[in-house]
Amino acid sequence: MTLAGLPLFPVTVVGSWPRPPYLLEALRSRQAGRISFQEFNRVADRAVLEALKYQEDAGVDLVSDGEQRRDNFYSFVVEKLEGVRLMSLGEIMNYVEDKEAYDNILRSMDAPAFSIHNPTVVDRVERRGPIALDEYQFLREHTSRPIKITLPGPYLLTRSMWVKGVSDAVYPTQAALAQDIVAMLREELIALRDEGAEFVQFDEPVLTDVAFNPEVKERTFMCASMAASSGDPMKELVMALRLMNDITRGVDGVKTGVHVCRGNWSRKEDALLRGDYEPIVPYLLAMDTDQLVLEYATPRAGDMDSFANRKKLSEIGLGVVNPRTDQVEDPEFVVGMVEKALAYFSPSQIYLNPDCGFGTFAERPMNPPEVAFKKLQVISEAARQLRETYS
Ligand SMILES: [Zn+2]
Repeated sequence: MTLAGLPLFPVTVVGSWPRPPYLLEALRSRQAGRISFQEFNRVADRAVLEALKYQEDAGVDLVSDGEQRRDNFYSFVVEKLEGVRLMSLGEIMNYVEDKEAYDNILRSMDAPAFSIHNPTVVDRVERRGPIALDEYQFLREHTSRPIKITLPGPYLLTRSMWVKGVSDAVYPTQAALAQDIVAMLREELIALRDEGAEFVQFDEPVLTDVAFNPEVKERTFMCASMAASSGDPMKELVMALRLMNDITRGVDGVKTGVHVCRGNWSRKEDALLRGDYEPIVPYLLAMDTDQLVLEYATPRAGDMDSFANRKKLSEIGLGVVNPRTDQVEDPEFVVGMVEKALAYFSPSQIYLNPDCGFGTFAERPMNPPEVAFKKLQVISEAARQLRETYS
């Protein structure tokens, strides 16, 4: 089945799925160096199949592997790239200019300590092999449904991996590192396309932090970016746009998307960012990608007015359930959200997904699989109702 064969309002996920206890155990063994990545992957195979089954049983049309082989959505690249090393909080602190402010930010943002292992460039970056093609190939063997593969966005990777005082010995500037990152991600996108992957989503959650926290000198979003930015949001957003387009330009035959949210590391709503998409919409719309995958179930994301009178967006992956709540939304809530979106988008432009993954960080899932499963079922039921009305 291809994407073109899907019904209206295809149901999909943003990417991650909660890890079962045996997988977390294997992940910790891997992180302690007790087992190889190959050995870890043999354990993860089982977890991927379980994550897939949950999705298929819940009626998800476009499935992911639940990011079961990743510790989180961007640090995992240390397994895939030469020249990158995880740095602990203690090591990072040595390079942070304002240590007290940094510490305060970590506390106020409810940052999970385990997430503060930053993938840092310490040498020339090179691919050891594929970044996600191996994940795709395994999943392809086990499902006939179209597959979504997630990749960390080029801006996120550049910002997080370039640490002043460490990385500049190899890459004098962020821009120099960005060139290599763009080349690698483009190569990966093309490899995924050539193998038949239907959808590749680039995750750029840090864009909201750039837009909403311009006064913060050292970016703090999930600690994803330790390097001081230019401090000029517009300049940063232009850079994010340029990097993305350098990857996707001229690559046809695979649907691409960009995911933006306001954080998914805490259930404390006031620890997460707040603000509508307005400041970043012009940059998102200028990206040469097919779909924007955006959270909207949380009121912190504002309403959809940002898309009024803008015609360029071809598709939206509409966030219709909150992955961080115990309460399972009902189908009427989802249908209501889609009806609001229909003021700005036609039925054929709308995919349905949760606001974000259910396990962005392996060690801090936002819900157990049983709740995640129910939330996906609700989206499927809403899609069924919507198809009856709009097909
Ligand atoms: Zn997200």
